Amino acid sequence: MAFNQPIDGKDCVKYKIAKTNRQSCLLCGHPMIEEQIGVSVTNSHTDAVKSKKMKSTNLWFHTECMAKLGKELRHEDFEMNQRINLKKCTSKNQWCIWCEKKITNSIQVELNNKNDAITTKKSLWLCRKCAKDMGRSLHWRNRNLPN
Ligand SMILES: [Zn+2]
Ligand SMILES: [Zn+2]
Repeated sequence: MAFNQPIDGKDCVKYKIAKTNRQSCLLCGHPMIEEQIGVSVTNSHTDAVKSKKMKSTNLWFHTECMAKLGKELRHEDFEMNQRINLKKCTSKNQWCIWCEKKITNSIQVELNNKNDAITTKKSLWLCRKCAKDMGRSLHWRNRNLPN
């Protein structure tokens, strides 16, 4: 069933049932709805996670926010809710979830949940170029649909 297939042709973006409403959408900042289908962005498929160099983590957005999120990523036109940022990565242990290359000490795209109601702080990183590629993959013409 296509529900289990990644939306993006990689394994970064997948439909998933939200288990809690304490996590919020990367785009609109409103809570995910418990027991409903949302979209999960994750690093769980990466070698860095499989080899235990990075913890497996995921962030969320609403299915209906997918188009706008894709546009933001393509144009680097990020909302002011600070969940998506152009930022200097100072951690030595972050890998791009899209190309899986190590994120060096440079300005790249950070996704985070620091304004969410859960206490577990989570962030994921993408190279600027890869964030645009991921954004393109979320366009309705390119994405896999849940059917
Ligand atoms: Zn949303
Ligand atoms: Zn990358």
